[in-house]
Amino acid sequence: MGCYRPTTLKLASAHCPRAVDFYEQNAPAFRDHFAVGIAAHDVLAKIGEMALFLGRAPLPEEMQREAAGIARGLMEQGRVFEGNRESPMSAEDAFAGRDLALAYAIRPDATWATKGAWYERGFAFDADWNSIPFASKNRRFRLILDKIEIVTEEGEDYAGRLAVVTDYKSAWPTDESELSTYQMRAQAVAVYLAMAEDLDGIRLQVTNLRTGKTFGFDLWFESGAREQIEAWKSEITDYMAALDKMTDGRRPARPGIGCLGCPYALGCDADIIASDRTALGMRLAKLEGEREQLVKALKSATAEHAIQLADCEVGYEVKLSRTPKDDALTAIKATWFAAGGDWAGLLRSLKPTMAMLSTVAKKLYPESKDDQTAIVEEWSTVKHGKEFGVYRPRP
Ligand code: SF4
Repeated sequence: MGCYRPTTLKLASAHCPRAVDFYEQNAPAFRDHFAVGIAAHDVLAKIGEMALFLGRAPLPEEMQREAAGIARGLMEQGRVFEGNRESPMSAEDAFAGRDLALAYAIRPDATWATKGAWYERGFAFDADWNSIPFASKNRRFRLILDKIEIVTEEGEDYAGRLAVVTDYKSAWPTDESELSTYQMRAQAVAVYLAMAEDLDGIRLQVTNLRTGKTFGFDLWFESGAREQIEAWKSEITDYMAALDKMTDGRRPARPGIGCLGCPYALGCDADIIASDRTALGMRLAKLEGEREQLVKALKSATAEHAIQLADCEVGYEVKLSRTPKDDALTAIKATWFAAGGDWAGLLRSLKPTMAMLSTVAKKLYPESKDDQTAIVEEWSTVKHGKEFGVYRPRP
């Protein structure tokens, strides 16, 4: 029986069961985008702990000092994760993570608990979901929560003690859909199993560090949350059993949309030799995943010098193109009128682009994205087209 974490469940569901094999074998993963998030998480945890220690929100300069120390440690020694020292982080990633965390931490709406909170708190459970020490040999499921804070809510519908579980996310697209992943559900299960006696409910929330937006919902025990969490627990149990069963030899590869963004795409050995339509589609999906990561890796590897091959170079090619000058419209107008043209003729000769419509809409309604969208829709028409590629079917 294996020991699983939310990360392993996410690898299986967002990518494929073979990705779990790669994870368990510690196969090289393309993790450049993870490193920034790791650094940001470390900085936020330390700022949170500082707030608990000081009993007040840290000042911006205190946060900066702490963040600089964390980034230095990550560059010099690497982070310690579950007791193991990882390799030192690149300066670019450590600084980018530090800046991402600080940009969020100093926002006026970022709140810092001064008591009743934990950062990077680990939980572990045995095969019967009994809470056990984090390092126990009998653990079947383990996880580390970014932040838990106990608050007292005095709402009209529900009131009582809530454990607010916050998951910090560094990916740009993070939105409310993250709340329905097994990663989040597992967090609710863990807090429920380990702390429910002193609670009336759990608030699950994700914070997008890039946009500063937090999405969340409440699970009050008296209104069905216990049953809901028990159902998630049972699904996670089944999921882990299914992943265990697949280990007969190797877990199956499932090339498809999951290959896009799969951290193991560069080294994945899923072999697709058949040439029927389905196999060809799988092959393309796998190639796209590999291509995506090759491009990311090579972009940073060739930022300064292209790679010389026998008959070509791989990297950035300098291209010349022309772009309108800032005062091009004023100059066009002057030339047009000097040639005897009028406004109507000038406007007819200018072909609007969608980018132009968006720019004008932003100037007209700088405060409202909805108004910008509405006016752009009014000025444009829907055109049906086709684009070939690997994509997720629309619901
Ligand atoms: S690249 Fe595709 S097939 Fe290979 S492990 Fe990742 S998701 Fe699975």
